[in-house]
Amino acid sequence: MHRVMIQPASYENCQEAVNMAFDLFKPQVAGKKVLVKPNVLRGAKPEEGIATHPAVLRAVVERLEKMDPAEIIVGDNPGVFTYGANEQAFRDTGLMEAAKDYYRNIGAESKEVPFNPEYLPTVGVSKAIMEADLVISLPKFKTHGLTVLSGAIKNSFGILPGAQKANLHKLAGEPGRFNEVLVDVYRLREPDLFIMDGVLGMEGNGPASPDLREVGLVLAADNAVALDATVGRLMGLADPMVMRFLAKAHAEGLGEYAEEAIEIIGELNPVPDFKLPPLGGEGISRAPGIQEFIESRTELRPAVDEELCTSCGTCIEQCPASALAFDEEYPKVDPEKCIVCFCCQEMCPEKAIQLS
Ligand code: SF4
Ligand code: SF4
Repeated sequence: MHRVMIQPASYENCQEAVNMAFDLFKPQVAGKKVLVKPNVLRGAKPEEGIATHPAVLRAVVERLEKMDPAEIIVGDNPGVFTYGANEQAFRDTGLMEAAKDYYRNIGAESKEVPFNPEYLPTVGVSKAIMEADLVISLPKFKTHGLTVLSGAIKNSFGILPGAQKANLHKLAGEPGRFNEVLVDVYRLREPDLFIMDGVLGMEGNGPASPDLREVGLVLAADNAVALDATVGRLMGLADPMVMRFLAKAHAEGLGEYAEEAIEIIGELNPVPDFKLPPLGGEGISRAPGIQEFIESRTELRPAVDEELCTSCGTCIEQCPASALAFDEEYPKVDPEKCIVCFCCQEMCPEKAIQLS
């Protein structure tokens, strides 16, 4: 039986919920090298709800300091291409300060490990992740256009530094396969504990949507499948198995999703009228063939809002399929090349890319 903690919290009092998570799951920290991985998609202010909030990271770090670890490291690999922007993303999100002196650019050194040969024979994982005795993952409660939600399993995509993430998007080529790649990456190093920032959540076209939602929760679990299934239920999914990454993770024995297999510590009250991403609702059958059929007939493409776009070019740099180019002043998508990975939407600092 898995356990998932659902605890009401605000950013002012989240230390209490974080302490409860440690008391409940009892990670063995003393004498260990502990790596804490927040979700740092890109440099964004805490109030944008894109990255794990610094208050949650600070609460985790301060609890760990009292548990006599051999070492604490805080790190992530933001973005799909950029190595050099690691420190900047931590500064912009307020996570550098919350990490105290424990921040490390974990993208600087990686260790090559075997991967799924269908995509790549090996990938480089941040060495600090592979060498940690204990990994604590701090995902964010938010939606994702490709996977429905960006939770515990998706947070592990950031164990890969730099351009490999873009390359895997490209090699996967379509959403179904990308969901599978996520699980392949997750399996490289399953975290030991998950503490999710669900205080300020995100709905609609995540993971960089302007639609924020006060959810007011901190969640915790020691199993990613159980946590993501529970988050799906909080978002209003009656059947979390419509999420293909979750179905694959379950099929591979990584955890249970059924309600009867998960003990909820707290109250599971779905967020009323929660807005799921366009292809993420119960309208999608759990049968992959039907999902692919719907996707092949749904013209879901990124579109640039010229009112918001500052022509900075970030989306063009970050597109793994070279499907974006300036058309006079603004970027334009080549639908023949676009693999619908949403990296441009994730990376646009102005939230000027919508899915239409
Ligand atoms: S990243 Fe956003 S603001 Fe920059 S060019 Fe692309 S759409 Fe415009
Ligand atoms: S245009 Fe956007 S969604 Fe399409 S391939 Fe490029 S980054 Fe991905």
